[in-house]
Amino acid sequence: MSSVVTRFAPSPTGFLHAGNYRTAVFAYLFAKHHGGSFILRIEDTDRARSKPEYEANILDALAWLDLPFERQYRQSDNAPRHRELLEQLIADNLAYVSKETPKNQGDREEVIRFRNPGEAVSFVDMIRGEITMDTRDLGDFVIARSLDEPIFHFAVVVDDADEGVTHVVRGEDHISNTPRQILIQRALGFATPAYAHLPLILGTDRTKLSKRKGAKAITEYRALGLLPEATLNYLSLLGWNPGDDREYLSRSELIESFDLARVQKGSAIFDETKFFSINQHWMRKLSDERFLACLDFVNPESREGFTKSYNPTKLTAAIPLLKERAQTFGEARDMLAGELSCLFTKPTLDAGLLTAKEPTDRPGMTQEALKALLGPLEALPASASVELVKDTIMPFADAEEAKGKGGRGAVLWPLRYALSGRERSPDPFTLVSILDKDETIRRLRLALAILEK
Ligand code: GLU
Repeated sequence: MSSVVTRFAPSPTGFLHAGNYRTAVFAYLFAKHHGGSFILRIEDTDRARSKPEYEANILDALAWLDLPFERQYRQSDNAPRHRELLEQLIADNLAYVSKETPKNQGDREEVIRFRNPGEAVSFVDMIRGEITMDTRDLGDFVIARSLDEPIFHFAVVVDDADEGVTHVVRGEDHISNTPRQILIQRALGFATPAYAHLPLILGTDRTKLSKRKGAKAITEYRALGLLPEATLNYLSLLGWNPGDDREYLSRSELIESFDLARVQKGSAIFDETKFFSINQHWMRKLSDERFLACLDFVNPESREGFTKSYNPTKLTAAIPLLKERAQTFGEARDMLAGELSCLFTKPTLDAGLLTAKEPTDRPGMTQEALKALLGPLEALPASASVELVKDTIMPFADAEEAKGKGGRGAVLWPLRYALSGRERSPDPFTLVSILDKDETIRRLRLALAILEK
C-alpha cells in the first residue's frame, strides 16, 4: 500500500477539542505507517460559520502536535471544480434543479437534487466490517443549494477523489453519510475509497465528549503544560492499542505499530488523569535543558521570562523534585511558587511550629538539636549529595530516638521546617543538598535566633 493517501478534514466552525484531533492522529499514523501522504483540507463549505480564527487554531494545533501534512487547502479553493461536476451531473441527468416550496425563512426556491437510484449500498468499513444501508428513504437528496454552493456530501466526494484519497479515516458520526457519498461517487465515475469510521470518544461520565460540556480545546492543554509527544501518545490510545501492554509510545514507535485493524469498535474514554500520567512519563524523560525550556513555554505571556527569575543552579537542582511530583509544566510552575519556593527565598518561621514536635518531657530539645547539627553540617563540603547529607544527619537523629521515643522526629522536623518554613516540603536531606551548606547554616542560625527570644 505504498500509495496510501489520507486526509484530516476539519470544519473551521469552532475550536476543536482534544478528542477531535484523534482523527488527525489516526489518519497521520496510518499514512506514515504505509509511507503514504497526509493531507489537510479545511472544510469551509459552511461559509457563514467558518471563521479564520478557528482555521488558525487548527493549524496551530497541528503544528504543535507535529502532524505535518504534504498538502493543505481549503474546500472553497475547489469551487470551480465543484461547479463543473455539478453541471456535468445535471447534463447527464443524474442530478436536477428542483423547484422547492420554502417552508422556513431562508429556504431556497431552487436546489440541486441527486437522482437517487434507490438501491441498497454496501461498503466494508475497516473497523466495523460490512455495512449495508437502504438508500430509498433518502429520496432525491440535495447535493447543492446552487451551482456555487455545493453541500458537504458533494464537496467531500469530489475533493477526496481529486486528491487521490485512498482511505477516509473519520468519526463514526459520519457512517450514515457514507452511502449517500458512495452514490455520488458512482454517478461521477469515481472509485470508492476504503473507509475507517473511528469509535466515539466519551468523557469519564460516559456521555459524548463535547465542547459544550467543557471538553478543552487542545491549545488549552498546551497552556496547562502538556507536552506534544505526550498528547500524541495519549490521543493514539483513544480506541487503539499496539497489541501488547506498552502504553508509552514515541512517534516512531507509533508509526511503526499503528494499524487501523486494531482500532476497537466500542467507544473510547477521554480520561484526563490518564493523559496527565502519560505526560509525567514524557516529562521525566526530558533533558534538563528541554525541561527548563518547557517551563518557560507554558504561559505565552511569560514565555522566556519565567525561569529568569530563579537562581539557575538551584532551579536545575530542583528538576528531579519536579519530575517526581509534577504531572504538567503548569503544576511544576505552581510548585516552584509554592512548596518549593523555599529553595529560592528565605522562609518566615513561626516559633510555635519550630518546636511543634518537641517531646513534652524534653523541653528545649529543639534548640539543642539544631545547635548540635551545626557542627556536622559545617563539616560537609559546600554542596553535598543527598546521600552524604543523610549519612551525616541520620545517625544523630537515630541517637536522639534511642534516648526517647519521638527523638528522631524532634530532630528532623525542626531542621526541615527551619529550612523550608512549610509543613509540606521535600525531606530535609534534599533541602540541605539543594540549598548548599552556607545557606543551610544561615537558615539554622535564624531559627536558633527565634528560639532564643
Ligand atoms: N468536515 C467534517 C467534520 O468536521 C469531516 C468530513 C469527513 O471527514 O469526511 O466532521
